[in-house]
Amino acid sequence: MQKILVVEDEVKVANAVKKGLEENGFDVDVAYDGRIGKGLATSNNYDLVILDLNLPHHNGYELCEVIRHKNNRVPVIMLTALGGMEDKMQAFEIGADDYLIKPFDFRELLARIRVFLKRAGSEATHGTQYKISIADLEIDREKKDVTRGGKKIALTAKEYQLLEFLAMHKGKVISKLTIAEKVWDIDFDTGTNVIEVYMNFLRKKIDKDFEQKLLHTKTGMGYYLSEE
Ligand code: CA
Repeated sequence: MQKILVVEDEVKVANAVKKGLEENGFDVDVAYDGRIGKGLATSNNYDLVILDLNLPHHNGYELCEVIRHKNNRVPVIMLTALGGMEDKMQAFEIGADDYLIKPFDFRELLARIRVFLKRAGSEATHGTQYKISIADLEIDREKKDVTRGGKKIALTAKEYQLLEFLAMHKGKVISKLTIAEKVWDIDFDTGTNVIEVYMNFLRKKIDKDFEQKLLHTKTGMGYYLSEE
């Protein structure tokens, strides 16, 4: 059974989410404040975490940091009140993989959870090529580990998914539209720069400290990962 942690101080929202998720076959832990959330997040292994942004004791940002520090790969979905985030990029910058603005439709939350969990499951079971190497970059698809020059690179779940997707199509130019569909699955507002933002995150982590650049842009066409 897949385990989900819900950290939300609005008891009604938290309980409704818990009930809905349990009806859909998930094992759910709820924390009504940041301190309890932190305790649960650091002492259990969850398949996914749902985090409210404004919480007593530790807010969603702090918790997200703690969770990332402990388990870099677990998908984190952030909940925020309308206007709670100055910019939607803020959620991604702090390491969340997705966000929902309250009030939200439970079915929408469930759909996003399924996207993350399905992806994690299918990658583990039916990927044929477990290790992908591009120059000195190595991606271990079973362990979800990335190293460059033998040094481990810490990526968020979303950064990892983007890198893995490009690596699985090594050398091929992938359009932003394809990336939006295949890596995010969710329609982002047209005109969003989420993919550029993520490519910048990846470049900082993968290429910045190395002379040989592996992430490339084909202007107006897309991105590709290659040794050239
Ligand atoms: Ca709150």
